[in-house]
Amino acid sequence: MVRASGNPSGQAIRTASGFICLLLFAILMNAGPCSAEPLARVPRILILYPYDERIPATAVGGEAVRKRLLQATDGKVDLFSEFLDLSRFPEKVHIDRTARYLSEKYATRRPDVVIALGEEATDFIARNRNEIARNAKIVFCGLGGTDAAGMSLPSDVVGAFSEFDIAKTLTMARGLQPNARDLFVVGGSSDFDRSWLATARRDLPGPATGLRTTYLEDLTIDEFEDRVSRVPEASIILVLTVFSDSSGRNFIPQNALQRIAAKASAPVYGPYSTYVGQGAVGGNTVTFESVGMAAAELAVDAIAGKQIANVNVPQTYIADARQLKRWGLAESNLPAGTVESFKEPSIWKQYWPAIIGIIAAFALQGAIITGLLLERRRRRYAEHNARLRLLELVHLNQSATAGALSASIAHELNQPLGAIRSNVETAEVLLQREHPDINLIQQILVDIRDDDQRASDIIIRLRGLLKKRSEIDLQEFDLNDVIKSAIQILHAEAEQKNVLVSSTEPARELPVRADKVHVQQVILNLATNAMDAMLDATTTERKLVFETTLIENSKVELSISDTGRGIPSDQLDSVFRAFYTTKPSGTGLGLSIARAIVETYGGNIWADNRAEGGAVFRFVLPLAQRG
Ligand code: ADP
Repeated sequence: MVRASGNPSGQAIRTASGFICLLLFAILMNAGPCSAEPLARVPRILILYPYDERIPATAVGGEAVRKRLLQATDGKVDLFSEFLDLSRFPEKVHIDRTARYLSEKYATRRPDVVIALGEEATDFIARNRNEIARNAKIVFCGLGGTDAAGMSLPSDVVGAFSEFDIAKTLTMARGLQPNARDLFVVGGSSDFDRSWLATARRDLPGPATGLRTTYLEDLTIDEFEDRVSRVPEASIILVLTVFSDSSGRNFIPQNALQRIAAKASAPVYGPYSTYVGQGAVGGNTVTFESVGMAAAELAVDAIAGKQIANVNVPQTYIADARQLKRWGLAESNLPAGTVESFKEPSIWKQYWPAIIGIIAAFALQGAIITGLLLERRRRRYAEHNARLRLLELVHLNQSATAGALSASIAHELNQPLGAIRSNVETAEVLLQREHPDINLIQQILVDIRDDDQRASDIIIRLRGLLKKRSEIDLQEFDLNDVIKSAIQILHAEAEQKNVLVSSTEPARELPVRADKVHVQQVILNLATNAMDAMLDATTTERKLVFETTLIENSKVELSISDTGRGIPSDQLDSVFRAFYTTKPSGTGLGLSIARAIVETYGGNIWADNRAEGGAVFRFVLPLAQRG
């Protein structure tokens, strides 16, 4: 166990003299010439543990030594460990027997360096070095300067001093418990325990602490438990070591502390890092890891042939976050630089990758949503503009069609007007008779009314053709009705051009969702083109055929075929380009507008030549889905 010492005056670092240098090299080179050279073979290092392998303080320190040595030598080191078991077998006979045994054991493999953990192991090797490791460098650790001075160690034995300052542990306790009024100092009955109690008495004089100080000593473990369970709440309990109690029962000190802390009615502090995690709030200590590390550094330098001298292992404040919580002690009252164990990591520390991931996902999602919204806005705006342009184009197209058809429409209008006129004249003649034939006159009036209706229908159609709208009038209608009304508009023109118009359609309704006037305009464009094409052709028969077909019950196809001159096969696509025309007074816009309209309503349009001669234009529109 690491020895308690409160007197830093014993830390005087021994300076290496020229003599030591000579001695050191002689030792390291196995009595060879004195030169600062590293060993030529893998060095052998013996770690001497004072007790058995269960004592955490030396186990932790020894493990730190091993780890550091293996790391520093890249594994090129022969490590040996011996557990002297001196707390259970303190008798001289055991010590001598162990020395003889180790002397024989290491006869053929003498260590180059012996690292002694704690006072007992250091004392053991200092006394028996000639037998066990005559030429080895001795490095000790876990001693206070006073202890080392009291041992009169040879000057070539150097080490890492650990100074335990029990007053600093009390300072930490007072900082955490400013209202404390009582101090209870707990110590066991072994020599080591008693030396701790003596140190405490020297370093914590009652009046200086400002606390009523009570020493709990010469007690059994049960008595310790009982006493600490009854101390006033505003108390500080300082547990030093309990290697054995007053009944002679042996303990591992951290286990004794665990039992005491479990029963204590006030916070418990102690000077060892192994107490943290067993119920102690904390204390000022030299950690066993840093003790081991410091000793290992000295050993590494020694095997490298360097001169080594005593060093001091730094002290640290340590605390158990769970105990702070248990006793309601404020973390902010801990001394600066305290190393806190068992601290629950903050949500951020625990889950930062997940938190960053979630935030990033949200940010990304936000960016995507914003992007999509902007895109949607832009698309809507573009769609709106496209619709407006389409409306304007279609209106221009309608006006052009009306213009082209105006002669035949006027001619068509003339027929009912002419019929009305002749019927009126006939009626006048009949009425001049002495006995006018009333039945006949009545018949004439019916005819006049019918002709008036015909004329009115023609004008309504014309107005429909010319009507300008500011918005697309999306509605569901039967495609057959639109074909019929288009044929009626074209009827006079066809008659004039001597074109025979026929149509076939399936005996069912063909619901389509679009602007009726737009679809009618597509049909008019295709049909007027067809009639133009037939006008030039030398065919005897001019036939314009409308045919509607259902496709997979989800689409409807309208084909408009003619017996005209057809389209050069390499121009079948070009005819849909804007401004493509072969006509002297053509605009080349009819088919490009037709395509724009069909595509607006989710369909497509294309041209072909018929095998029998003439062209056929087809367009497909989706059927409106009826719930
Ligand atoms: P425009 O009728 O003003 O020329 P369109 O875009 O309607 O403009 O037609 C473009 C061209 O396509 C026509 O000039 C013509 O050469 C060709 N075309 C269109 N329909 C037919 C058809 N049924 N038969 C032969 N050629 C056609």
